[in-house]
Amino acid sequence: MRTTYAVGIDVGGTRIAAGLVERKGRLVKEARTLTPHTDGPFAIVDAVIGLINEVSAGTQPAEVAGIGIGLPAQIDFLKQSVEFCTNLPLTGVDVRALVTSRIRQDVVIDNDGHCAAIGESRFGAAKGVRDFVMVTLGTGVGGALFLDGQPYRGSRGLGGEIGHIVVRIGGAPCPCGGEGHLEAYLGRPALAAAGRAAAGSYRGGGIAKLAGGDASAITAEHVVEAARAGDEAALEILADAGDVLGEALVGVVNVLNPRLIVVGGGIGEAAPEILNHAAARIDEHALAGRRDVKLVRAELGNDAGVLGAAALAFQEHDTREGLHR
Ligand SMILES: [Zn+2]
Repeated sequence: MRTTYAVGIDVGGTRIAAGLVERKGRLVKEARTLTPHTDGPFAIVDAVIGLINEVSAGTQPAEVAGIGIGLPAQIDFLKQSVEFCTNLPLTGVDVRALVTSRIRQDVVIDNDGHCAAIGESRFGAAKGVRDFVMVTLGTGVGGALFLDGQPYRGSRGLGGEIGHIVVRIGGAPCPCGGEGHLEAYLGRPALAAAGRAAAGSYRGGGIAKLAGGDASAITAEHVVEAARAGDEAALEILADAGDVLGEALVGVVNVLNPRLIVVGGGIGEAAPEILNHAAARIDEHALAGRRDVKLVRAELGNDAGVLGAAALAFQEHDTREGLHR
């Protein structure tokens, strides 16, 4: 049976977003709530179920293809299990079974970076592109590889962690426990730390001013805002971040030869300097013949995760039913 809607859920460290989505990507109804991140896994599952009920109210069960849930976690997609989750207490929690037991719909879970990439590939910046790389710059640095029209998941579904490419051997500590990974230089905490360090010099006054004169209160957003106002120290921080991203992407481009690199996430979409510097690095250092890769900003913004999770639910439904798009 050809269904009309799917529900997409995007679970983030601070909020959970949900949407009732039509096949062509139109968001018919939206709802969101703060993530109850200190109340244990069941509170998170309860919040997800509450949002599913809210957005699907008024639809018939037969009209809904299923529920797609994007989680900020490493997911074994084949087993549909949560292998590792740093920001929320979901490691080892059978989210899919818990939701399925209370909602009479098919449920599929995936990594949030994969969901965003699926969203961009179906409805956004990478529409119609079979080979692309997605990088999300936010609190963490995430990503996904889309190869030959499908998200590449690796042998256990854990592939695509671009944020944990080593860019400096023995470098800065990464939130994952590793050293010198991309996220250690580009995540919100890293940009904020660079802003605070700059505020200690005579040139960083503009960034500190945005934080009310309190250098210890500087966030990544202050750095981005100062750069937008032309502050030199802030521009330099973002240029450096873009150079580091570009260096990591040179390797990715050389290995995979993607047509497009889509940069999303709150920081990625707000700081064109990062994108421009990364593009220049690729242009200078990638192997000949691969440099025509384009770096573009994601188009779906905060909706990418919800739309991608819904697209995944449609895809799983159609595979089960033997339907072809
Ligand atoms: Zn790491």
